[in-house]
Amino acid sequence: MKEHITQIQLAAESWNPRQVLAWAFGKFGDEVAISSAFGAEGMVLIDMASRVQKNFRLFTIDTEFLFPETYNLMDQIEGRYGVTIERVYALLSPEEQERVHGPALWAQDPDQCCNLRKVEPLARKLGELRAWITSIRRDQTSARRGARKIEWDEKFGLVKLNPLADWSSAQVWRYIREHEVPYNALHDQNYPSIGCTHCTRAVRSGEDPRAGRWPGFAKTECGLHIIQSVAHVAKIQGA
Ligand code: SF4
Repeated sequence: MKEHITQIQLAAESWNPRQVLAWAFGKFGDEVAISSAFGAEGMVLIDMASRVQKNFRLFTIDTEFLFPETYNLMDQIEGRYGVTIERVYALLSPEEQERVHGPALWAQDPDQCCNLRKVEPLARKLGELRAWITSIRRDQTSARRGARKIEWDEKFGLVKLNPLADWSSAQVWRYIREHEVPYNALHDQNYPSIGCTHCTRAVRSGEDPRAGRWPGFAKTECGLHIIQSVAHVAKIQGA
């Protein structure tokens, strides 16, 4: 599969998001799923997917620290698109995590907290798939700059599709308005990027859109889209 991806990767760069989605659904059937935290880009992808294929798999990593607005949006998605969101949880509940690792791990060691609550659950979920679809865009962070529309995910060992890789934020919001796509109410309160309650704040005028994530830490990614060795992931799974 890795070799096949290398062969079509270049051609796929000229495909629009719907073409990437159609290819993925045709190629992998029920062994491909959209991964989403329901940001603006994720909502565009979910809406597009519903126009390409009625039934598609959609999962989210529920850290159990999400905003009420995010949970509300999840309910709206299930009602509007007729899908059941597959919710993936950490091995430790928030209470167990506190017992084992101490209080407010996100404030002491956010990388470890993200590994426990996001990276390990994702690795576990991806173990049942042959491909996953994300809504990352190249201009979101430096780590995402090299994203291709179709690529081999070395970290998790499956195909990764990024249909919106070359889209801008303006295109995303134009699509949302034109198609009346539901979105997280926090976006209207200066939260351009939304994660866990403990690690997300509103941004001030002129700040980078991701400045509200992990404020006070030199951290811009939770680790889901950064290349790490499989050994590292295995270590997390054993944590
Ligand atoms: S975003 Fe914050 S609270 Fe959520 S998993 Fe990462 S460190 Fe923990």
